[in-house]
Amino acid sequence: MADFDLIVRSADRDIGIVDGKFAALGSSLPSSAHEEVDATKMSVFPGVIDSHVHFNEPGRTDWEGFDTGSRAAAAGGSTTVFDMPLNAHPPTIDGPSFDAKKAAAESKSFVDFSLWGGLVPANLNQLKTLRDREVVGLKAFMCNSGIEDFPHVTMSILREGMRIAADLDLIVALHAESEEMTQQSTKEKLAAGKATIIDFLESRPIEAELDAIRRAVDLSHETRCRLHIVHVSCGAGVQLIAEARANGVDVTCETCPHYLVLTDKDMKRLGSVAKCAPPLRSEKDRQSLRESLTDVTTIGSDHSPSPWFMKNRQIVFEVWGGISGCQHLLALLIDSGLSLERIADLTSRQVAKRFRLDQKGEIAVGYDADFTIVDPAGNETVTTESLLYRHRHSPYVGRKLRGRIVRTVLRGQTIYCDGKLAAQPMGQLVRPNR
Ligand SMILES: [Zn+2]
Repeated sequence: MADFDLIVRSADRDIGIVDGKFAALGSSLPSSAHEEVDATKMSVFPGVIDSHVHFNEPGRTDWEGFDTGSRAAAAGGSTTVFDMPLNAHPPTIDGPSFDAKKAAAESKSFVDFSLWGGLVPANLNQLKTLRDREVVGLKAFMCNSGIEDFPHVTMSILREGMRIAADLDLIVALHAESEEMTQQSTKEKLAAGKATIIDFLESRPIEAELDAIRRAVDLSHETRCRLHIVHVSCGAGVQLIAEARANGVDVTCETCPHYLVLTDKDMKRLGSVAKCAPPLRSEKDRQSLRESLTDVTTIGSDHSPSPWFMKNRQIVFEVWGGISGCQHLLALLIDSGLSLERIADLTSRQVAKRFRLDQKGEIAVGYDADFTIVDPAGNETVTTESLLYRHRHSPYVGRKLRGRIVRTVLRGQTIYCDGKLAAQPMGQLVRPNR
């Protein structure tokens, strides 16, 4: 009988795994295992928890789906994803829609998953049901979501929703951009026949983001609802959140790799493949975001795919706003020069903590044996052919990234190794601790 199912020999310690859990950690475990992996020249990360993906299933698998989306996530080093409630059809806003998505994900996902529930004007009476189904939190939009069946909330509905969420002990994630400001400027641009990329960028200014963040933070303070502002695009936004937290408000934020490695100049060069909301910002803003990273809690990909025809439109305002990026979340961060410890915090430890996933986020005895082995000396050039998405477009095509994802392990099982995915999906629903 072997002592372990799997032993990973890394540079600073050995990691022993039994029954899908980390069972022992130490310098040179003198033990036997069914399988042994030599990672002495590699970096070992706790499995990436990408808390922001749109896999669009059920209902819009022609956009992505759990099969292709989770393959890309696994190849990128992610072991868990949180799927957003919109873009699935029906959106995840009540019990039956939650059940339908869970069933789809259980049969197809290569990685573990948690599901966000939606907070929309018509479903305040469904929030308890969603809590009982064990959603990871609630997601709402303060501006148009781009999806008809997922309307944004007004301030009064958001206040009521956050009150209920606080009672249910649910965290609320918000897309924070001012509807009034973005709609007004978009209308003016279109009326004047102005529809270039620069016009689009100007139609969603930083002030629209800051205005919404301020109002959201005030509501969090008032309702005592835990709040997470997703995809903050600039250092000024992060600072507002850090100040509120210093004043006792339970608010955190996420940013995304595209705001850390791309700018408005890249969008002008790349075109609509780089359209997202909030939009890419200036080089100065990108730098201030980087300098504010200590006050950021999580980094998620906001993988928001679509068929190419939806990106390939004459009028930029009609282009789908979303970047395909879950496959390169980890590699982009390594390539950006962030320390490996900091990356592990932002993509795994702090994510598990903020969203209360007790079994995830640490390479420690008793935790799920989720980890990713990266060759820091390796590199990967992103090509169209290397993308595992249903629709092979990404603003990162052509980029050479330092650090190659060698192996991804989920609950002790290798789900990705040297370009190959596991034969069968094994993803399970991850329930937050209540
Ligand atoms: Zn999103």
